[in-house]
Amino acid sequence: MATRCPNNKCSENRLWIPPRAHCPDCHTEMIWKTLPNPVIGTIYSFTEVVYAGIGIELSTPYWQVDVEIPGLATIPKSYLLYGKPTIGMKVKAEFRMKTPTNTVLDYYWVPYEQ
Ligand SMILES: [Zn+2]
Repeated sequence: MATRCPNNKCSENRLWIPPRAHCPDCHTEMIWKTLPNPVIGTIYSFTEVVYAGIGIELSTPYWQVDVEIPGLATIPKSYLLYGKPTIGMKVKAEFRMKTPTNTVLDYYWVPYEQ
């Protein structure tokens, strides 16, 4: 889920992830929008995390990836579940359905084979 500014006079009509309560440009209350399924993105940047911060329940090392999603104003950050990232690599969003943590760690990316 993402949010979008419903103000037709606003210059920013792209989607926002993480969702915003109000538009950063015109301060109008945002509305919810559903992304198409599957969500396919492109790796914009990545780094290998060797020492995770407190509260990160991922085993290290892992790949932290910034992923461009078509139509978004933002470039969300998450992690690559398996494989080695490259800039421009296509990835697909997946979600932890069994034993979710109810945190941002419940969504991640996997390599997308076309
Ligand atoms: Zn706006």
